Amino acid sequence: MPSIPLFERELSELAQAHLLRHRREVSPLLPPADLSPDQEHVRGTTYVINGQTRLSFGGNDYLGLSQHPALILAAQQAAGRYGVGATASPSVCGHSPSHEALELELAAMVGLPRAVSFVSGYMANVGVIPALVGRGDAIFSDALNHACLIDGARLSRADVHVMPHGDLAALDAALQASTARRKLVLTDAVFSMDGNIANVPALLALCERHDAWLMVDDAHGFGVLGAHGEGTLAHWGITGRDGVSPEWQGRLHRLIYMATLGKAAGVAGAFVAGESTLVEWLVQKARTYMFATAAPAMLTEAVRASLRVIQEEGGRRQHLARLRDQLRDRLRTGLKLPRPWRLMPSETAIQPLIIGRNEDALAVMAHLDRQGLWVPAIRPPTVPPGTARLRISLSAAHTCAHVDALCQALSEAV
Ligand SMILES: *Cc1c(COP(=O)(O)O)cnc(C)c1O
Repeated sequence: MPSIPLFERELSELAQAHLLRHRREVSPLLPPADLSPDQEHVRGTTYVINGQTRLSFGGNDYLGLSQHPALILAAQQAAGRYGVGATASPSVCGHSPSHEALELELAAMVGLPRAVSFVSGYMANVGVIPALVGRGDAIFSDALNHACLIDGARLSRADVHVMPHGDLAALDAALQASTARRKLVLTDAVFSMDGNIANVPALLALCERHDAWLMVDDAHGFGVLGAHGEGTLAHWGITGRDGVSPEWQGRLHRLIYMATLGKAAGVAGAFVAGESTLVEWLVQKARTYMFATAAPAMLTEAVRASLRVIQEEGGRRQHLARLRDQLRDRLRTGLKLPRPWRLMPSETAIQPLIIGRNEDALAVMAHLDRQGLWVPAIRPPTVPPGTARLRISLSAAHTCAHVDALCQALSEAV
């Protein structure tokens, strides 16, 4: 049993390495209900952070839906209809008509036969992976995968092979060499700290060749990628509004699709979709589904409203793409960045600017903070040592003037 002085010593070591995380108290500048039309630009972009007003590039609210009036109304009405708590796990009495409808809508949206909802993405991953593989099986996990995929893999007790990021040849060889009974490949669909998109078609083809499963975590692609925000599968043409494309039909049973609902969808929760039997298996076996209280219907109804906005308001994705291009043009050609700073090649809303050393990243973050901008510095162990970065996260709620302000402040930090 570690003693308290031991924790104290380790905490001070973290502080010295500039690795302590400081939570901030954050609230929207104005209550969403109080906003007048001329204040729309503050909705989902401007926050009071530790008492100071800041323009935020820190959240994952890529479409600006966390404060959308339709979602807020749906939550309020659902609280009136259902109350505020689900009272039990889904298999006891926590599964409401709203949960049922949401799962049908999610499956239809991503073009897969069936979906099951979880209270969070973390819970989905740590529940699903151990339900699929166990001792004696093998997991092949991309080196940049999110922490909860890593934890799910550990919890499963399968042998974990950490694969070099995006290295299909290495994965091919590792799958070939494996004699495990079951093989599961794990990947972020959009890497959360780099913003790049995994080559899902190539991964699925490899899994087909080596009789493996592919689990894709689309926390950062769902809502953002695809013509209607269906996510990374639609981005690659694997699924569309009419379901799985014919070319991929025969390989569908290899695919486990997971996405979260607290980022672009603006609410909370997650879901896993795939073949009906697979989803039924998860309903029966995923312990974080079976033994956790279901999400309140307030949240599931807000998500249902969000799915409508995501699919109907395509202009949000177009605006987001314009902001991304504006930022990338300015930072790559308009500004001379000092070495080793570099903008990662990302086509998503996540635009990481690599700074290098932890203290340098913190210094740039502090400079931006003084200019009224909130951009988080991401340090190890979230990212590899020596690649501390500003994780610039764009939202459809931002205006071109917001992106200008960020570029201007960065040019002065140089
Ligand atoms: C945020 C995130 C999760 C966790 O989802 P929550 O709903 O926040 O628990 C899972 N995977 C990835 C890639 C993420 O970025």
